[in-house]
Amino acid sequence: MFIELENLFNGGITEIPLDLQFDFSEEEVDGVFPFTTPVCLKGEITNVAEIVSLKAVATFSLDVYCSRCAEGVTYDMEVPIEHILVSELQNDETDEFIIAENMKLDIKQLTLEDIYFALPSKFLCDDDCKGLCPKCGANLNDGPCECKKDIDPRFEVLLGLLDE
Ligand SMILES: [Zn+2]
Ligand SMILES: [Zn+2]
Repeated sequence: MFIELENLFNGGITEIPLDLQFDFSEEEVDGVFPFTTPVCLKGEITNVAEIVSLKAVATFSLDVYCSRCAEGVTYDMEVPIEHILVSELQNDETDEFIIAENMKLDIKQLTLEDIYFALPSKFLCDDDCKGLCPKCGANLNDGPCECKKDIDPRFEVLLGLLDE
């Protein structure tokens, strides 16, 4: 989805408000399609003293699975989407700028890239998730399983270390 920025770059207007919804249900993260509801993007693109900047926030939920216990978990996220936009490269040191080619910005693509960048490396149902018993596969968040007692106490210390 492209936003026409020519009027903004030329100073004809000073602000483009953004209130958009994107469907990312086809986008895959770690083998699942977690964007089960639309991603909302709110904010604006402004031209202040000839600096064109995008300031917005993407809010969305992710339906994923806990990487320790595999239970379904919904993450509510807010990701700032903030960039300085330029219509062409001014010099070589402009890596942090987004180039709006032909004064058009692919806002959907940019939002998706920023969201991917902001995703946590793993999802947990809870920071204290105890995970699954490696022996019987029981969900240890529901309580200790039967096999706990035949683990050698010395080995248990090691397991504790592994978990950290
Ligand atoms: Zn978990
Ligand atoms: Zn067990």
